[in-house]
Amino acid sequence: MDKTAIQDARQRLKSAQRLLLTSHIRPDGDAVGSLLGMGLALENAGKQVEMVLADTVPQAFRHLHGSERVRKKVEGSVDAVIVLDSGDPQRVGEILPQGAIIDINIDHHITNTQFGRINLVDTRAAATAEILTALLPQLGLTITPPVAAALLTGLLTDTIGFRTSNMRPRTLRIAAELMEYGADLPTLYEKALNSRSFEAVRLWGAGLSSLQRQDRLVWATLSLNDRRAIGYPGLDDADLINILTTIRDADVAVTFTEQPDDQVKVSWRARPQYNVAEIARQFGGGGHRPAAGATIPGDLPTVQASVLQATRALFNGTQTNHRVHHNPKSENKVK
Ligand code: 5GP
Ligand code: MN
Repeated sequence: MDKTAIQDARQRLKSAQRLLLTSHIRPDGDAVGSLLGMGLALENAGKQVEMVLADTVPQAFRHLHGSERVRKKVEGSVDAVIVLDSGDPQRVGEILPQGAIIDINIDHHITNTQFGRINLVDTRAAATAEILTALLPQLGLTITPPVAAALLTGLLTDTIGFRTSNMRPRTLRIAAELMEYGADLPTLYEKALNSRSFEAVRLWGAGLSSLQRQDRLVWATLSLNDRRAIGYPGLDDADLINILTTIRDADVAVTFTEQPDDQVKVSWRARPQYNVAEIARQFGGGGHRPAAGATIPGDLPTVQASVLQATRALFNGTQTNHRVHHNPKSENKVK
């Protein structure tokens, strides 16, 4: 990572007293873990820290120290804004006013638009938490056991327990370092990856009964009706996508999760030879080459038809630039 950018970030943090930290909507373990990890470390260094997420911290991460302090709105004035684990500023939702200056952007997405005054982006890192583990000491911050637990949670969830294609020896070394700092790997693993509600598993049932396949592409659909009937509280796919990726003969898996207000959340996962970030980007989303997502306006059948068409192009090498149902808000941020 760029040494000058790290120096600049250190200076910026030194001169600021009130810091706002935020991450993306529908936060996952890396969003929450990075937010809490950096937030607590800054607080330990005597800063006033406001941690804000547009959506509620999922149950799976509520055991983490500081999670109860995450708010939904910015309350006071702040001297500096730090955005974590977000490829573009729209990903943080309605937290920041339009055009707000973002002082520091720390992320690992290949689709990151370098939207910060200072950009600490490493696309080889398996998680933003991996970047932070090396970065915090360079910023003069200390990794205490609660900070380590938050960061290890980010690393564990983004790598789904150290098994994604972007795993490097370095990722395991960083995990080992976090254990040495006091993080309890088996407990964090259990809470973040191996524990779910009855309703989540029933939602899988609904999704799995809709499972379809065409050649090496598989997909499942979760309607708002399914969600209501089951009483599942979230608007996500309850990680159903990770079940679809276990299908041996499939190279690409997609979930379509209907949202209120005529939108559909789409998640793509692919074997390493395919680039689904590019497909997601065509629809105003983004992510990583093997794992990407987008929230697309339109009804379920229409979005499904255009997404499946664009995704099939992966198999015949005719990845094109359809811009059928992309999110206009993200348009000028797509590079
Ligand atoms: P998921 O499908 O689990 O929501 O997301 C997979 C990956 O794509 C994650 O790294 C996530 O941050 C990214 N991603 C998901 N939705 C969006 C989106 O709407 N915009 C961007 N830029 N990235 C997204
Ligand atoms: Mn991440």
